Amino acid sequence: MKTIKDYNFSGKKAIIRADFNVPLDKSYNITDDSRIRATLPTIEKILEDGGSAILVSHLGRPKEGPEDKYSLRHIVDHIGNLLNREVKFADDCIGDSAIEKAKELKPGEVLLLENVRFYKEETKGDKEFAKKLASLGDVFVNDAFGAVHRAHASTTIIAEFFHENKMFGHLLSRELNSIDKVLSDIKRPYVAVIGGAKVSTKIDVLNNLIDKADDIIIGGGMMFTFIKAQGGKTGDSLIENDYLETARNILSYAKTKGTKIHLPIDTVIADEFSNEANIKSCNSDQIPDGWMGMDIGEKASQHFSAIIEASNNVLWNGPMGVTEMPNFASGTEAVVKAMVKATEKGAFTLVGGGDSVSAISQLGMDDQVSYVSTGGGALLEYMEGKELPGIKAIQE
Ligand code: AMP
Repeated sequence: MKTIKDYNFSGKKAIIRADFNVPLDKSYNITDDSRIRATLPTIEKILEDGGSAILVSHLGRPKEGPEDKYSLRHIVDHIGNLLNREVKFADDCIGDSAIEKAKELKPGEVLLLENVRFYKEETKGDKEFAKKLASLGDVFVNDAFGAVHRAHASTTIIAEFFHENKMFGHLLSRELNSIDKVLSDIKRPYVAVIGGAKVSTKIDVLNNLIDKADDIIIGGGMMFTFIKAQGGKTGDSLIENDYLETARNILSYAKTKGTKIHLPIDTVIADEFSNEANIKSCNSDQIPDGWMGMDIGEKASQHFSAIIEASNNVLWNGPMGVTEMPNFASGTEAVVKAMVKATEKGAFTLVGGGDSVSAISQLGMDDQVSYVSTGGGALLEYMEGKELPGIKAIQE
């Protein structure tokens, strides 16, 4: 693996693709900075060698060009505080301001470029755009595990312009080593806990996990499509009607493979999508009209916790409920606590994905599980055995 460990950055300008896609509140305060902290060792190594760092990232999903709420300018000071030095900012990631500021950068200095997704060329993997980004530095360091499953300009295509001088940062190489360890030696029973909003984004993941895991726990908004697919009453819960057949196929595939799929017995329901809504709980397949499922219920939390605590390998991605609203965070909290208990008993426990990582760090328990990955989609795809374009681009 080509990593920064044995490279001397003295006098070099390193373009670091980081994952600074952090959650911000309405006043643009960072509510969870774990992704930034995770990449500090990479930046520090480069600066200590006498190199300079050009930080590249995306933030959110801007639709058409620049949008202030997705500007990386909101996080400049925070990075500066963490690094204990000034961080310069270019209000464009290519073009004159970026070129000028990158040119002036001296050893030990840090420059953050504006959100690469302000250009549609980024997600299209445009070669010309990648070339312009590449021209700003001498070395390319990829440390954005959360984005390596995308063949975007700044995560993958850019590597083409650095023949030898491209490598993995500390975070990315640590992520790959840790996950390889789990993959090569899966302890059983192996339970995968999958939550989040939609079934449609997790079909491949679920089918793949059916081949590998002994138990699969399904929570979050996606559980209601499964419940409806089996004839349950789901009221006004989030449903993907186009995926009812897919859900049935997933359930019957699991049956043929002998993998147990666990859906929540009960659900916390609300009469509107709000933390201030009226709340009660009911069986997950008997949700009245006018009410929607917002979290797994008490019985489901106990059931899921028991499965997790009895497992020797636990993979968790995606919240059990609408954790952004405190009244619907209990199910996710129960999963975290059960994972901590499983870890204490010697299980290997792996957490990945933005919402799951935020939940565990807000509970202050991120150091009580085996490994917290900064990747969500990337982690799941890597575990599926897929070749990730951002990784391949460095290895080629
Ligand atoms: P994902 O990005 O697919 O991992 O989904 C995360 C999102 O799922 C979070 O924003 C949660 O609010 C949302 N979510 C979890 N449970 C529910 C639910 N019961 N109804 C609607 N959204 C949910």
